[in-house]
Amino acid sequence: MAEVLVYVDHVDGAVRKPTLELLTLARRIGEPVAVALGPGAENTAAALAEHGAVKVLTHDASEYTDYLVVPKVDALQAAVESVSPAAVLVPSSAEGKEVAARLALRIGSGVITDATDLEAGADGPVATQSVFAASFTTKSRVSKGVPVITVKPNSAAVEAAPAAGAVEALSVSFSAQATGTKVTGRTPRESTGRPELTEAAIVVSGGRGVNGAENFALIEALADSLGAAVGASRAAVDAGWYPHTNQVGQTGKSVSPQLYIANGISGAIQHRAGMQTSKTIVAVNKDAEAPIFDLVDYGVVGDLFDVVPQLTEEINTRKG
Ligand SMILES: Cc1cc2nc3c(=O)[nH]c(=O)nc-3n(C[C@H](O)[C@H](O)[C@H](O)COP(=O)(O)OP(=O)(O)OC[C@H]3O[C@@H](n4cnc5c(N)ncnc54)[C@H](O)[C@@H]3O)c2cc1C
Repeated sequence: MAEVLVYVDHVDGAVRKPTLELLTLARRIGEPVAVALGPGAENTAAALAEHGAVKVLTHDASEYTDYLVVPKVDALQAAVESVSPAAVLVPSSAEGKEVAARLALRIGSGVITDATDLEAGADGPVATQSVFAASFTTKSRVSKGVPVITVKPNSAAVEAAPAAGAVEALSVSFSAQATGTKVTGRTPRESTGRPELTEAAIVVSGGRGVNGAENFALIEALADSLGAAVGASRAAVDAGWYPHTNQVGQTGKSVSPQLYIANGISGAIQHRAGMQTSKTIVAVNKDAEAPIFDLVDYGVVGDLFDVVPQLTEEINTRKG
């Protein structure tokens, strides 16, 4: 069976969930071979094996932390040359997309970004994408070279599928470009204790209807009852009620959670562009004519100041 390379996103050996989702998709196409780079790469092996990696190619060097993406592209290129895979799958983070695009250029392949699903096809893997502010769903396949495909978080379930996960050292020689862009400083983001917005399985968002920074505490309380990330519309962000890093939409972040709860958000096309691929969409809005109700699975016509606290209380009660 053909091997499929999966680029591992990890922090000091702790594998992030989108990579485990990629392993589920990779198994539809062939045998997953993971590529883990940087500090702690070898510590990823157990989690990757548990989720279907037959092999884990590892390499650590200071270049991965000291310089931006090119050393990683060099390593992935080395992995492609040693494995001749049926595809290369990369998580759709900003860095993942840059790595994928550069790799595709290097190996003369086509690239597909932000896939939301992947299936085996007679002529190579077929990727589903949601395009034009999610007004269309397209299916595409790479017609030249080894397909390089980035996949959005939450596009597949994480499934246990124990495999050998044999660790092998990857031999990498860095290109002249590898040291072109040096990292000069790092400041850790202040942790909110909530999941990362683009990876969260549940996102609870607030819009102009929240009517003030202080009222976002209601949105946060609902989010915390569900273990969710907090999102915001641009109107809320522009008003200074919530940080720009939490903006969902065309000029904010693109999210694709299992559950998206929009509170006091009208559903403008630019907001929809960032959340319309969510699996289940719930909206709370006091205007029954709000466009958000055109795309919801469940809608509550009501004042969020009544509905949200009751919902939070009910969830907390049921959690016991
Ligand atoms: C180039 C461009 C890019 C953009 N990018 C983005 C983007 O990335 N993300 C984004 O979100 N927007 C973006 N916008 C802005 C977008 O067009 C909308 O203006 C914005 O999404 C509106 O935010 P909102 O839904 O919170 O506010 P509104 O459209 O004002 O809607 C507020 C909603 O809250 C409801 N409401 C009010 N009070 C309550 C209450 N007490 N209880 C329940 N419901 C209540 C109202 O009925 C209304 O439907 C962009 C616009 C442009 C031009």
